[in-house]
Amino acid sequence: MVLQRIFRAVIMGPPGSGKGTVSARITKTFGLQHISSGDILRANINAQTELGLLMKSSIDQGQLVPDDVMSRLIMKDLRAMDQSSWLIDGFPRTVSQSEALDNAYSVDTVINLNVPFQTIKQRLTSRWTHLPSGRVYNVDFNPPKVSGFDDVTGEPLVQRDDDTPDTVMRRLKAYQTQTEPVLEYYRSKGVLETFSGTETNKIWPHVEAFLLRKLSPAKQNVA
Ligand code: ATP
Ligand code: MG
Repeated sequence: MVLQRIFRAVIMGPPGSGKGTVSARITKTFGLQHISSGDILRANINAQTELGLLMKSSIDQGQLVPDDVMSRLIMKDLRAMDQSSWLIDGFPRTVSQSEALDNAYSVDTVINLNVPFQTIKQRLTSRWTHLPSGRVYNVDFNPPKVSGFDDVTGEPLVQRDDDTPDTVMRRLKAYQTQTEPVLEYYRSKGVLETFSGTETNKIWPHVEAFLLRKLSPAKQNVA
């Protein structure tokens, strides 16, 4: 789909709610640029940058990295794609981050994936990731074509250091205390759109239909 105007969206949801998978489908279907805060941080860790080394222990412990560090990283990437439509995954994750984003750009839509915590705990421990691209697979419902290897590059998949049961619990806690208030922030601005379910493949058609309606040329002329 070719968009008629710049469209800026955020995707939210607890860890393991399918943000990565749904983001990949959205960016493919609608041609948006994808920015993932977690992928940016993991790329820094992989490349052993100073910042990556500094942040690794908080990430492995399931804690958020400091707001100013994260906001600066994301803003740098956003400035580089000023004239593009984008979808951010994993940012903002605190009210302070959402204010930083708001000061620079107005967000058209926030897609919120509402998946029960019980489902998530089971899911994260059966998740495999292709670190360089951020592509994720799940042995139960979204397996790679060849077990243990990325579909696109054929490179090996790994389990993330922070996908252990204890760390998953801490990430869910951080989500409840620090990120849920961001949902309220966007709800009060009237841009929050919530999709509930336990299976990504069942949630996706609703997200797709919503964005098709939202982005259809007729709608855009009205706005
Ligand atoms: P999922 O991989 O399912 O999206 P997640 O949302 O917990 O789960 P990432 O978004 O990849 O995972 O983030 C991994 C870790 O990186 C977080 O636990 C946190 O430590 C750090 N992180 C990512 N985004 C932010 C952010 N916006 N603010 C602070 N820390 C962040
Ligand atoms: Mg992710």
